[in-house]
Amino acid sequence: MNNFPPTERTTLKRLPKRAVYDREAVYRILDEGFICHVGFVVDARPFVIPTGYARVDDKLLIHGSQASRMLRTLSKGIDVCVTVTLVDGLVLARSAFNHSMNYRSVVVLGQATVIDDPAEKLAALRALSEHMIPGRWEEVRGPSEQEMKATVVLSLPLAEVSAKVRVGPPLDDEEDYELEVWAGVIPLRLTASDPIPDPRLSLDVEAPAYAIDYERG
Ligand SMILES: Cc1cc2nc3c(=O)[nH]c(=O)nc-3n(C[C@H](O)[C@H](O)[C@H](O)COP(=O)(O)OP(=O)(O)OC[C@H]3O[C@@H](n4cnc5c(N)ncnc54)[C@H](O)[C@@H]3O)c2cc1C
Repeated sequence: MNNFPPTERTTLKRLPKRAVYDREAVYRILDEGFICHVGFVVDARPFVIPTGYARVDDKLLIHGSQASRMLRTLSKGIDVCVTVTLVDGLVLARSAFNHSMNYRSVVVLGQATVIDDPAEKLAALRALSEHMIPGRWEEVRGPSEQEMKATVVLSLPLAEVSAKVRVGPPLDDEEDYELEVWAGVIPLRLTASDPIPDPRLSLDVEAPAYAIDYERG
């Protein structure tokens, strides 16, 4: 299936022309980002917690400590809402009202399940690592049995999903185009600076290429 079928919950009502349900387009957004916000309800109270993630095929993976309330709560299979946001620019219009942002965002609804199978769990942890820092997993010490036990990995199916995308210049009211005020877009992107070695790093260990040349998108 190339499109996520919009459901009653994932149908955009505000500016529906910005809706994207194309699976590949959604995956491109998810693959560029690596931070999501996880919304869930505990004792009738909502919480939204930021965390890392990776996409593998039609699943979103998140991980964390056994002690984490977020992970423990989601392990019960309750409803969860995960959002990912990429900000591409600030859109400066001629009126205060018409200012906007260029962005690509995804909302995923569903229930997560715990990955228990040890091989699957290890593969998921590797995917999380490789999604954030490609090349890293091969170099580091892998997780011990105890570390594996201390870690929960959850898998959320990518089934009920929508994306919303804004691109382009400001959209001003027709009469405002005559105003002598600058309008346009300030593009924004996430860039890496030079890696900073750990003060305890031995001097003969050089920074790997994946750290020096790190980039996303
Ligand atoms: C960029 C980023 C990436 C992260 N990646 C991961 C990850 O991959 N795995 C992981 O387990 N955790 C990650 N975290 C930490 C995560 O946000 C939670 O703090 C952690 O998972 C513990 O969750 P909890 O539900 O047990 O928190 P609890 O300690 O039970 O939360 C109690 C309260 O503490 C406050 N709180 C908790 N977390 C935060 C926060 N991040 N910022 C502000 N207040 C907070 C809230 O008020 C919350 O209601 C990341 C955080 C950030 C910002």
